[in-house]
Amino acid sequence: MEESREWKKLPIAGLPYKLSLEYRTGDWRALRPVIDYSKCTSCMLCWLFCPDMAILWDGKKVWINYDYCKGCGICEHECPLGAIRMVPEGGE
Ligand code: SF4
Ligand code: SF4
Repeated sequence: MEESREWKKLPIAGLPYKLSLEYRTGDWRALRPVIDYSKCTSCMLCWLFCPDMAILWDGKKVWINYDYCKGCGICEHECPLGAIRMVPEGGE
């Protein structure tokens, strides 16, 4: 029978050891979502579907926290009005 491994014996890179607030998990994004506010009706569907809670509401409009957006494109796919477009990082 295989000996169980204690978590303290795992290599340090094998476990996140800081709060995610201390990481900018959007650093490795290749595509970034851009909101076209002329189409957006603030329906908040993108907020509901974003797996990283990177879409926020400031009381007037939704906006994207690029520190944490990983560029998955789910918001673009779910926006019923086509108000979100994924563009290459650094391209616009
Ligand atoms: S889903 Fe589209 S229309 Fe709705 S808040 Fe998000 S960007 Fe705006
Ligand atoms: S691209 Fe993905 S992570 Fe970024 S705001 Fe849209 S749903 Fe959230």
